[in-house]
Amino acid sequence: QYSTSTIEEPVKPPVEVNYSKLLIDGQFVDAVSGKTFPTIDPRTGEVIAHVAEGDKEDIDIAVAAARKAFSKGPWPKMIAYDRSNILLRFADLLEKHNDEIAALESWDTGKPFKQSALVEVPMLTRFFRYYAGWADKIQGLTVPVDGSYHCQTLHEPIGVCGQIIPWNFPLLMYGWKVAPALACGNTVVMKTAEQTPLSALYVSNLLLEAGLPPGVLNIVSGHGNGAGAALCLHMDVDKLAFTGSTETGKKVLAASADSNLKAVTLELGGKSPFIVCEDANIDEAVELAHEALFFNMGQCCCAGSRTYVHERVYDEFVEKAKARAQNRVVGDPFRDGTEQGPQIDSAQYEKILYYIRSGIDCGAKLETGGDKIGEKGFYLKPTVFSNVQDDMMIAQDEIFGPVQSILKFKTLDEVIERANATRYGLAAGVFTRSLETANTMMRALRAGTVWINCYDTFDAAIPFGGYKMSGLGREKGVYGLNNYLQVKAVVMPVKNPAW
Ligand code: NAD
Repeated sequence: QYSTSTIEEPVKPPVEVNYSKLLIDGQFVDAVSGKTFPTIDPRTGEVIAHVAEGDKEDIDIAVAAARKAFSKGPWPKMIAYDRSNILLRFADLLEKHNDEIAALESWDTGKPFKQSALVEVPMLTRFFRYYAGWADKIQGLTVPVDGSYHCQTLHEPIGVCGQIIPWNFPLLMYGWKVAPALACGNTVVMKTAEQTPLSALYVSNLLLEAGLPPGVLNIVSGHGNGAGAALCLHMDVDKLAFTGSTETGKKVLAASADSNLKAVTLELGGKSPFIVCEDANIDEAVELAHEALFFNMGQCCCAGSRTYVHERVYDEFVEKAKARAQNRVVGDPFRDGTEQGPQIDSAQYEKILYYIRSGIDCGAKLETGGDKIGEKGFYLKPTVFSNVQDDMMIAQDEIFGPVQSILKFKTLDEVIERANATRYGLAAGVFTRSLETANTMMRALRAGTVWINCYDTFDAAIPFGGYKMSGLGREKGVYGLNNYLQVKAVVMPVKNPAW
């Protein structure tokens, strides 16, 4: 059980930081400017390591290396089976170093070590095995056409891919983006988030060890308005995949329009509804709704952050949701039993506290939580609001923290309309025993994923992405592969007098 005022002394993480430079053309190098930036331990606010700070000059060098590896190197032309085997060897190395990688990830992000070690690193490994399996199965079509012509399509790698990832799931986002790009034969320049640069550098060294040729994957740590913006504006980047806030996603799209019209996919924010119907088993619904929101300290793009509960079961649900939040174990990510670590940084911490104050000011009922824990680091109490109304800021904006907002509804038609009345459309959850309700809701909800009687069920094969302002395109599965392929139509006469 968490203490309301303190967190125990931080545990020493069982790992060291060995990679803190940029990875360019197969070498770990300093930034051209020689600058570094600190990456912070969210448990204490203290510096973990100083990391090379890439900027426009470093992006230019990394893109040139990726271009050279694409046009002159072996990777795109390699027999696909050999490419697949390099990715499989990498997956084996991830498995071998699972706990070190997990420790680094938890140190840099604050997420519980068990979550990193038992869920996230194994999922990363799974992504690489999944896409390694696709590498030698990418094929075009023979297309029947009018007239005496033979038409076929070639599915080719798109070229140099820019990838920008956020801090909430550094390794999973690395997997979602790097694995399909490499399986298709592309080369990559990735900019990691400034809060969490460490794990991508560590695992990329293992990718080199697995046999990845130099220049195929380049990692430039740095800030959004420096290295990130330079990557988006670069004239020699063919495709840009971004995950992060909707606000930054708009800038990424604008930068493509202002430069070379590079293809863009965006995975952005959300305000996903989790709908508890009157026939639901309340205890199960409470637990699922709790995890849907509080998982990863509430820092999930698809967090079920509007909990809609039918009026007949509302009071019972609120009581139980409050009790569950009060039982959530907050503590050092490296201690056994910890369910919730600190938030990522002071900016997010202050932003969440601001939303909590706004909820109170607008008249929502604070059932539990609502405050910091301890003096050091960025720990927050699991917070639950009831009597939340749709027009309150806490029901409209992405809070990205451990704050559950519970709203009441009467009819299915009403809750469908309210659930859809948002600028976002990333995910939705429905909890019901009725197949008819499930069938109605799965079609009516305007979201890229609808989870019925489950939530946050991820698999390498399940496509993920947003409707409306939650994004453009889909990642994962076969849909995610298509982002990294160009389709070339080849046409020739069946009977050619020249032959
Ligand atoms: P952000 O969108 O600014 O950052 C995400 C990534 O984009 C980082 O790597 C960052 O360096 C980079 N970036 C920032 N500005 C850029 C620019 N102009 N050009 C190119 N790249 C740029 O998000 P944030 O500031 O870290 O967090 C703010 C809010 O975003 C959070 O509170 C949350 O609501 C949301 N967020 C969503 C996700 C998600 O998974 N959808 C992830 C992180 C944050």
